[in-house]
Amino acid sequence: MTYRDHVSDLPSRISLREVGPRDGLQNEAPVPTGAKVALINALGRTGVSRIEAVSFVHPRAIPQMADAGEVWEQIERAAGVRYSALVPNLRGAERALAAGFGELEVVVSASDTHNRKNVNRGTEESLDDIARILNAVHAAGATCQVIVSTAYGCPYEGDVPVERVLGIIKRAVADGADGISYGDTTGMATPRRVVGLVGETRMRFPDAPLNLHFHNTRGTGLANVLAALQLGVSDFDASVGGLGGCPYAPGATGNVCTEDLVHMVEDMGVDTGVDLEAMIAAAAEAERLVGRTLPSQVLRAGPRTRLTPMDVPACD
Ligand code: MG
Repeated sequence: MTYRDHVSDLPSRISLREVGPRDGLQNEAPVPTGAKVALINALGRTGVSRIEAVSFVHPRAIPQMADAGEVWEQIERAAGVRYSALVPNLRGAERALAAGFGELEVVVSASDTHNRKNVNRGTEESLDDIARILNAVHAAGATCQVIVSTAYGCPYEGDVPVERVLGIIKRAVADGADGISYGDTTGMATPRRVVGLVGETRMRFPDAPLNLHFHNTRGTGLANVLAALQLGVSDFDASVGGLGGCPYAPGATGNVCTEDLVHMVEDMGVDTGVDLEAMIAAAAEAERLVGRTLPSQVLRAGPRTRLTPMDVPACD
């Protein structure tokens, strides 16, 4: 018997998008192009379904991604892996399409204040831009997911009402979004909030593919993944080693860690396609690359199946 036999809606297989090379490295000190390429190649060999490889942002805004085109040219494209690029605006979308990406993501914040701090315009204006981006992407035969950041709360505005998020989704879906993703930008989600937002989204937009992106800023990352799995969600973002941080809380952890997520769900009978030992090895490489201890728990402790007999008398 597995966990799945007892919990009816749990998916048998999930699709993980590895966001370490983009979301992770964007929040770390810049690393050389060759090292990024090596990390993406190692990730491509782990069996992960999707990799968010780069973002096409202006190099002045995010110098860590200035080599996006070179990285994309140099990586080995692993068979069966879907690679995507994040774009901030129409110019970025045009660059990503010209580079040959077939799968793009664009972000809008559910919080108007957060959106203004990020891109200097309100949410409505960003949605107008996204409509133009979706047209350009579809004209090129590519797809584009709309990511709603601060979906569970905003560091400036606090709680974000579910209706506010659903209003954004309604517009994005009407404008042709190929999928949606909810970002827990500063780790404000809890299982209760996940069930509230995701449950309502699936009732109102049952046909919209839904991906979830959690942060472990406050230790609720895997609990939120579990809550979403029990609603039948099967698309998740995660970051190797837990690469990345929280720009609003220096020193805090960021993205939920890929190998921790894989370790948990595989034991529940949920297939990720990922070779856990290969992902742990990639996390060790990521740790060397950024030169600091990453928050991954499974990288430190090893998987529960890796037995480590020790002579430690008072260990309970
Ligand atoms: Mg993130």
